[in-house]
Amino acid sequence: MKKFSLTILGILATLAVVILVRAVTFPSRQLQVGPAQAIAIDRDGAVKRLSAAIRFKTISFQEPSDAFAQEFTRLHVFLAKSFPRVHQQLTKETVNDHSLLFAWNGKDTRLKPMMLMGHMDVVPVDAPTETHWTHPPFAGQIADGYIWGRGTMDDKVSVLGILEAVEYLLSAGFRPQRTIYLAFGHDEEIGGHNGAAKIAELLRARGVELEYVLDEGMNVVDGIIPGIAAPAALIGIAEKGYLSLELSVETAGGHSSIPPIDTAIGIISRALQRLEAAPFPARLSGPTRRMLEFLGPEMAWPQRLALANLWIFDPLVTKQLAASPLTNAIIRTTLAPTLFNAGINEYILPTQASAVVNLRILPGDTIAGIAEHVRQTIDDPRVKIAALPIRVEPSEVSDIEAASFQLIHRTIRQAIPEALVAPALLVAGTDSRYYAPLTKNIYRFLPITLRPDDARRYHGIDERISLQDYERCVRFYAQLIRNSQP
Ligand SMILES: [Zn+2]
Repeated sequence: MKKFSLTILGILATLAVVILVRAVTFPSRQLQVGPAQAIAIDRDGAVKRLSAAIRFKTISFQEPSDAFAQEFTRLHVFLAKSFPRVHQQLTKETVNDHSLLFAWNGKDTRLKPMMLMGHMDVVPVDAPTETHWTHPPFAGQIADGYIWGRGTMDDKVSVLGILEAVEYLLSAGFRPQRTIYLAFGHDEEIGGHNGAAKIAELLRARGVELEYVLDEGMNVVDGIIPGIAAPAALIGIAEKGYLSLELSVETAGGHSSIPPIDTAIGIISRALQRLEAAPFPARLSGPTRRMLEFLGPEMAWPQRLALANLWIFDPLVTKQLAASPLTNAIIRTTLAPTLFNAGINEYILPTQASAVVNLRILPGDTIAGIAEHVRQTIDDPRVKIAALPIRVEPSEVSDIEAASFQLIHRTIRQAIPEALVAPALLVAGTDSRYYAPLTKNIYRFLPITLRPDDARRYHGIDERISLQDYERCVRFYAQLIRNSQP
């Protein structure tokens, strides 16, 4: 018995030592870089141009509107006036009336081109909330160290920031070895079917293969990840898929004074209840696991110990991540009921009821598998399940060992020296998915800082960017273009 206890003790001691050693030797994945090259940005001019671009109401509505179509043309004219070198020295194509594709031809045609992306459209401002803005959403006001308005974060900042960087490089006499495409869609907020999709088709028809694509998507988060004191620059290496399922039921209806045992509303409610009670399985895999491998070595002790030893602490870490909606969304396919329709009158039993659940699909899952899980969970043949038209499989996961990932990593470390870098999963969708046939290397990053209070500004009230962040965006793009040359 004593010998047995000693053996157990020995195993536990060894385990403790292994866990500690792994935590102590958990290797940092952060690249060490020298300082960035000097880039003499005309900050005041750049700020004024972004501010002016905010005033064009290039709004994407679900229902197309001619009045707003003209705003895109006016924005194009403004861009041509504001970035004369870009418009003289790059080839410009207008795709499907409102999207723009620029090509800056490199000297070495053997190199695969790179692409920088952004979109010119913005989401509407909800009329009742317009008066809640500190500064009007389409005025582009510069105040308190910020530029305010729709598009300052999503995503005129990318379009203007990229153009500023290229205009600067042209003025500095820079000529690329590698061809650079700049692709600016006009309907990202409603799916990108007429903008980015068409640009991608055009390039594909020409046989273009890209070295890498950089789009908006993820940012520098500060004070948001527990256990990390430094800001973290998250590079989206994949994005979740998208599916909406309509659940519907038809019943005989009748007078509410003689209700049957099962009513239409009751049947749909029960289906939703079952779905919410049986979440999709969580897993620490793919981009989220890569993120923990990059952030873990930089974390405070308890987190560092756990993340260095996921082989044993995986269930514990998964449970913690599942506890908050923000992190729950990066470890599983999520389901959210978003519509519920039934009934016409308080004393009539509805003959039909329906609900829509919106699903965001984790890479590794598929639309077919998810739909089957929903059907089996509801387990009620009376409930008809139909997929709504917009369906997007999760993206491929881009390689973090690829030269272009390292390049973006290195550029971030130069442009934002205080930030840590990590790959991550984007829970929303971007235009970049249309370029998947042209390259395996698709990354999603825009160097603006999000503090805990800022995420709500996306598509929300008081969208704004600090002057410092905007200057940093321009520097980042200029540095990235330079770094992307062999
Ligand atoms: Zn966007």
